[in-house]
Amino acid sequence: MSTVLVTGGAGYIGSHACKALAIAGFTPVSYDNLEHGHAEAVRWGPLEQGDLADRARLDAVIAQHRPVAAMHFAAYAYVGESVTDPGKYYRNNVVGSLSLLEALRDHGIRACVFSSTCATYGVPQQLPLTEDHPQQPINPYGASKRMVERMLADFDAAHGLRSMSLRYFNAAGADPDGETGEGHDPETHLIPLVLDAAAGKRPHITVFGTDYATPDGTCVRDYIHVSDLADAHVLALRALLEGAATTAYNLGNGQGFSVREVIDCAQRVTGREVPAVLGPRRAGDPPTLVGDATRIRRELGWSPRLADLDTIIATAWRWHTRLDAGNR
Ligand code: UDP
Repeated sequence: MSTVLVTGGAGYIGSHACKALAIAGFTPVSYDNLEHGHAEAVRWGPLEQGDLADRARLDAVIAQHRPVAAMHFAAYAYVGESVTDPGKYYRNNVVGSLSLLEALRDHGIRACVFSSTCATYGVPQQLPLTEDHPQQPINPYGASKRMVERMLADFDAAHGLRSMSLRYFNAAGADPDGETGEGHDPETHLIPLVLDAAAGKRPHITVFGTDYATPDGTCVRDYIHVSDLADAHVLALRALLEGAATTAYNLGNGQGFSVREVIDCAQRVTGREVPAVLGPRRAGDPPTLVGDATRIRRELGWSPRLADLDTIIATAWRWHTRLDAGNR
């Protein structure tokens, strides 16, 4: 059975990708320093604890497991923190990725699926965003991901390391079977915070800005189910293993929902009230982000199974309430 090195395999999206890999017949080897990841989220293959920057550890893990490819998720991902502490982001996300890429190069691994982001585009010049939109990130997080995309292109040209960079819109939801889910600390994302408010774990959700040029004045985002993201990673991996060229794909559902619509949907799905407090804008938030994922649908046959917002929130809610039951 072919092995795939999954950096950040103990994290939110990485753990869902490990499940999808296992279903597809691969053995995922999670490489994670467990700073933000959870050891108990690693259920579909071995866990190897280590830092991206620890080249000797990476070499030992790769030599032991002999992966045919890598999926690279390990990164810091708090936009606000990246603005106040950019060095932390460039060191881990860029320098750490360089360490990984050099290890892949030196071990003759020729395929890498990279966890990128729509934050590499910056403020949209037109919507929905397509892959050829200029990449002008407006925060160090987006810039760090953009730099890794560039390094990957250069490593292909020089060393034949082919890659697919998947630019996600807003990852949300949890494994429909309830086997893994979202667990950030601190939590900053809208849907888990809304569900905390629904569960009474937080007194309310604060709506960041109500004066945007959007239909109801709140920010509009394109929410994509994490399991649909995971499936896309497996398709990208298979394509690379069959010889596909380096490229980048958007991953979104192409439909935008406002913060108010998310809150309304969560109230409907959970049957609970979600108290909302109207607050000021959060720095660095573009009014609307919606992605066009036509290319990955056409070229890799990706088709989301859980695109409906009610379904996305329902799976997240099931995971949320499962945690309450003390099962984790
Ligand atoms: N948001 C909000 N209140 C919160 C957290 C987020 O109003 O407590 C808004 C945020 O301004 C953005 C949307 O919800 O417009 C999604 O934010 P999230 O942090 O989940 O994802 P991002 O779009 O930053 O990747």
